[in-house]
Amino acid sequence: MVVIIQKNAKQEQIDRFIDWLGQYGLQVHLSVGAVHTILGLVGDTSRVDADLIRAMDIVEDVRRIQEPYKNANRKFHPENTVVKVGNTYIGDGSLTMIAGPCSIETEEQIITVARAVKAAGATLLRGGAFKPRSSPYAFQGLGAEGLKMLLAAKKETGLPVVTELMNLTQLPLFEEVDLIQVGARNMQNFDLLKELGRQPKPVLLKRGLSSTMEELLMSAEYIMAGGNEQVVLCERGIRTFEGYTRNTLDISAVPMLKQLSHLPVVVDPSHATGIARLVPPLARAAVAAGADGLMIEVHNDPARALCDGPQSLTPEVYEQVAGECRLVHKTLFGKAVR
Ligand code: PEP
Ligand code: MN
Repeated sequence: MVVIIQKNAKQEQIDRFIDWLGQYGLQVHLSVGAVHTILGLVGDTSRVDADLIRAMDIVEDVRRIQEPYKNANRKFHPENTVVKVGNTYIGDGSLTMIAGPCSIETEEQIITVARAVKAAGATLLRGGAFKPRSSPYAFQGLGAEGLKMLLAAKKETGLPVVTELMNLTQLPLFEEVDLIQVGARNMQNFDLLKELGRQPKPVLLKRGLSSTMEELLMSAEYIMAGGNEQVVLCERGIRTFEGYTRNTLDISAVPMLKQLSHLPVVVDPSHATGIARLVPPLARAAVAAGADGLMIEVHNDPARALCDGPQSLTPEVYEQVAGECRLVHKTLFGKAVR
C-alpha cells in the first residue's frame, strides 16, 4: 500500500503518523521527493483501513497495491483449489454440471427431474427448499419437508445435492446436503458467512445482484478466514440498466475471478437471463470463457413450475445443451491439464 502525504505536512505530523501505523506491524518505507513524501507500507495490509488513512489531514491519497483479500487471492495460492462435493470435484479441470428445478415441489417432481438430468450427464442436483422470493405472497419453498424430498432424490440417483441455506437456524437440517448455497441476496450476510466458515461443508457463494467482483471475493474471504477453504464462486448475472433480460450475465467475471483467485468459478445462466431460450447460448459462452461448471434450472413442466418457470429448461433441452457444453469444453480444454 502506498500513502501519499500532503505537500504542507510537518515532519512531526509524519513521525506521529508513522508511529500510529506501527499498530499494523508493517514495515514503513519513507521516500521524500521534491514535491511529495510517499510512504510504502510493506507486509500484510489486508487489515489496514485505507479509507480511514485517506481521511487523515496529512494524507493526500492512498493506493492499494495488494488486494484486501488474502485467503482467496491467487497471489498467495497459485494452484487452483479443487472442491470435493460428495463423489465429485469442482475445479479439477472437468466440467461440473449442476442441474435441477428452482424449487422442490413434490417428491415425484424432484426425483423425475433428478433422473432426467443425471441421464443427461449432470454431476450435481440442485433444488431449493428455502426460497428467497421478492414477494412474501409468492411460493416460499417447502422448507424442511422439501429438504427430505431432495435427499430422497439423492438416494435414488446417487447425485450429490446443493441447496440454499437462508439463515443459521436451518444449518442442523443440512447434515446430508453436500454443498451449501449462499444466495445472491445473502452474499453479504456476514454472520451467515462467518458461521459457514466454522463448519466443514463446501459452500457455493453466489454473486450479489449489485456486487462487485471484489465484494464477492471479500465474502469468500469471510468464509475462508474462519477456516473453511472449500468455496465455489458463482456468477449469476448482475443488475444493469438493461431490461430485456432479468439480469446481465457478466461473462468477464469468469476469467477475471479465475485470474484474481484460485477458487473454482461456476456460472448460472438461468438467473442471469430469466429466459429459457437464452440459457443454451450463454451456457456455451460460459464454458468457452473458462467456467469450471454450470448451474442450470431444469423443470419437468416449466409452464406449471411454482418458481422460475420462464427460465427453466425441459429435460430434453437440457440434454441437448449439456452435450453442446461438453463438446465446447472438450474442444477448448480437453487436452489441457489444469
Ligand atoms: C437460486 O439459485 O435458486 C437463486 C435464488 O439464485 P440467486 O440467489 O442467484 O437469485
Ligand atoms: Mn430460481
